[in-house]
Amino acid sequence: MNQLAEIIWQRLTGLMPGELKKTELPWLATPFQQLSLLTSRRATMIVNRVRLFAFLFAVLTPMWILVDFLVFKPPLWWQLALMRAGASAAFTCLVLFYRPRGNLLDAYRAMALLFAIPTLFYIASYSVLGSHELTGLSAAVSSGYAFLPFVLLAGLSIFPLTLIENLILASPILIAQLVAAALRWPHLDLPAFLGTFWLLVLITGVSALAGMSQLAFMIALVRQATRDPLTGMFSRNSGEEMLELQLILANRSGAPLAVAFIDLDHFKSINDQYGHEAGDKVLIIMTRHIQACLRRGDMLTRWGGEEFLLIMPNTDLEQGIQALERLREHGLGLRPDGAPVTASIGVAERMGDATEDWRALVELADHRMYYAKQNGRNQVCASLPAGHDPLAHD
Ligand code: GH3
Ligand code: MG
Ligand code: MG
Repeated sequence: MNQLAEIIWQRLTGLMPGELKKTELPWLATPFQQLSLLTSRRATMIVNRVRLFAFLFAVLTPMWILVDFLVFKPPLWWQLALMRAGASAAFTCLVLFYRPRGNLLDAYRAMALLFAIPTLFYIASYSVLGSHELTGLSAAVSSGYAFLPFVLLAGLSIFPLTLIENLILASPILIAQLVAAALRWPHLDLPAFLGTFWLLVLITGVSALAGMSQLAFMIALVRQATRDPLTGMFSRNSGEEMLELQLILANRSGAPLAVAFIDLDHFKSINDQYGHEAGDKVLIIMTRHIQACLRRGDMLTRWGGEEFLLIMPNTDLEQGIQALERLREHGLGLRPDGAPVTASIGVAERMGDATEDWRALVELADHRMYYAKQNGRNQVCASLPAGHDPLAHD
């Protein structure tokens, strides 16, 4: 039974975007628990696309006034022209006053505004047109107004959105369509309306798929830019970015923040005796062991070669030492000859060491790691003995 479920699950995940890992798949469904780096990049992209879309609408909406003027009689054409001018002004405001700030709520607000303007325009124009008996060319142009919801729903596809976000954004447009139909109820051609509505639902589905596949692509790109390909841990660049951010947050809130510099002992001899691939395997297994011991919110960064930096928010020196001793007891895996992998670890903490600068904090942890090496390896060092010159190893 379990095996069957596993096979079905494998087949299903095989249909998902191939560039994603299993753990990243839930990110396609909801925006919760996404990486902060992904969230901020996604928010920036959404706001930029909203502004592009708003710019196009701001320019194109008033152009159609000329067509309305030629085919409709007053007061209909100037009623529509006024609505178009209003919509165009609202789009222009969106372009002028909205700037990406990397904040997702802000991006949602931008999208809601972008879609609210044409939705209101659609309801207003539809009710005005519905109250006129139109024939010939003017009837043809007026039926063009009914295409607006299609444009909006198809437009959803340019945003990198999760499934839930797609559905929440599409539903007001679909509901507006139902409201517009209810307003025309006595004259409504029901079969034609149902056909149209079904088409809108289909377009929503296709747009949602397009948006989610953009999101999948984005998730993979962010991972490639932030993760070390061998171990899957954060790369040094993103580690520095996160550490800087964490230190700003900790300085502001007065919370402790510990960092540990971890350097494997006698790692070179593994490469020398068993080859580079065996060394790689030891590195991968070691990161798995560290991850199994980490608290939620701790971040492991591959600083270089066989050196790792562990960032521990809301952790003071004592708690940091405890966590690292626990890690040493748990073990870091085995060397190819069966002996345990060990590491020399230096710890530093923002408050205990009175350091507000992330580089200084890393340097302190690095010096302590070197002291742990000199002092016999396979140990955690949290302070240098009095009189010890931290630069002696250089
Ligand atoms: P110590 O106990 O003093 O730290 O000794 P060590 O051998 O660990 O230190 P050293 O810095 O001399 O050697 C680090 C070695 O790590 C050298 C380098 O070949 C190896 N290394 C760096 N990156 C990788 C990698 O990605 N894969 C493998 N297999 N080896 C790597
Ligand atoms: Mg080293
Ligand atoms: Mg080493």
